Amino acid sequence: GFSRRGVRGNFVPPIRSNGNSTGNVTSRIAGKGEDAIDDSTKRCLELLCGPDGELPEKLRNLEPRLIEHVSNEIMDRDPNVRWDDIAGLDHAKKCVTEMVIWPLLRPDIFKGCRSPGRGLLLFGPPGTGKTMIGKAIAGEAKATFFYISASSLTSKWIGEGEKLVRALFGVASCRQPAVIFVDEIDSLLSQRKSEGEHESSRRLKTQFLIEMEGFDSGNEQILLIGATNRPQELDEAARRRLTKRLYIPLPTSEARAWIIKNLLENDGLFNLSNEDMDTICKLTEGYSGSDMKNLVKDASMGPLREALKQGIEITTLKKEDMRPVNLQDFEKALQEVRPSVSHNELGTCEKWNEQFGSLS
Ligand code: ADP
Repeated sequence: GFSRRGVRGNFVPPIRSNGNSTGNVTSRIAGKGEDAIDDSTKRCLELLCGPDGELPEKLRNLEPRLIEHVSNEIMDRDPNVRWDDIAGLDHAKKCVTEMVIWPLLRPDIFKGCRSPGRGLLLFGPPGTGKTMIGKAIAGEAKATFFYISASSLTSKWIGEGEKLVRALFGVASCRQPAVIFVDEIDSLLSQRKSEGEHESSRRLKTQFLIEMEGFDSGNEQILLIGATNRPQELDEAARRRLTKRLYIPLPTSEARAWIIKNLLENDGLFNLSNEDMDTICKLTEGYSGSDMKNLVKDASMGPLREALKQGIEITTLKKEDMRPVNLQDFEKALQEVRPSVSHNELGTCEKWNEQFGSLS
């Protein structure tokens, strides 16, 4: 119809716009009547409309339900991680600040010779803070954060991955500056050849590379971060587009100590001397950041379990009934929580780093 109604269904005065638009945003993008779109989708589209009440060009041919999925599930308005939450990795933080945060904050300075790469690869064993870094970048650069796991594109969005990728990049370009974090990017840009590589996953990969090419050549303030613990699976095209490749290693002994203190200080009492701390750090060689978190969780259950064993009911237990967490709790926890990264996995990452990693 030609009714002049905006996405809320209220009257919208005639506005000048290019082409044959009638001011009815939802019916135009969907090619369907407004009735086909429910209220939550409408609200979501409305938020993406420009000051003129029109949906940006890039989103007009995309399916509203995919736009809504990107806005509600993939876009994270408040990633809520700061540099100070991340233990160690000083080198990575410094590189990232220069390479991607400054350019996002000052696009006017970072052009020409200084124009930044738009693709960053964070590789290394799982649970070492790659996702945290992605979120912190978005926070520091005041950018919108988008998180998607590449394997969900092929498993959950079978046959629709391509369309979702278009919606993702489309919404990101309306929410600039933006950081798009693609976890397990190897499963999307893998070099493994076709045994069973379906036509659809090939198309998905092509679409993804096209989208990257698009903002790489343009003036868009979009950064793509790929994360993987299997960098050796990436093909050459992927390596070419992810120009900066930073190795995110397992935490050092110092970083492990920091993680323990940080977590314990956050929620209560502990009683660990410097020697105790050294002992724990020695015993946790090879633990990832996320292993450390699990270890602290398990250790901090010690005092609680003990209090309950002494007959105190969980329902009436007071904080004061629990003693501080001590070395023995950690020693017990160490038997339960084992390191999750294998020597093999580590070796492969380190070798790949020597060959393809960015040094600065
Ligand atoms: P990755 O993306 O590398 O697999 P994450 O960034 O998702 O790992 O980390 C998982 C969890 O492990 C984090 O939420 C955090 O609690 C802990 N963690 C991992 N690395 C670090 C680190 N360097 N500093 C502090 N916590 C960490």
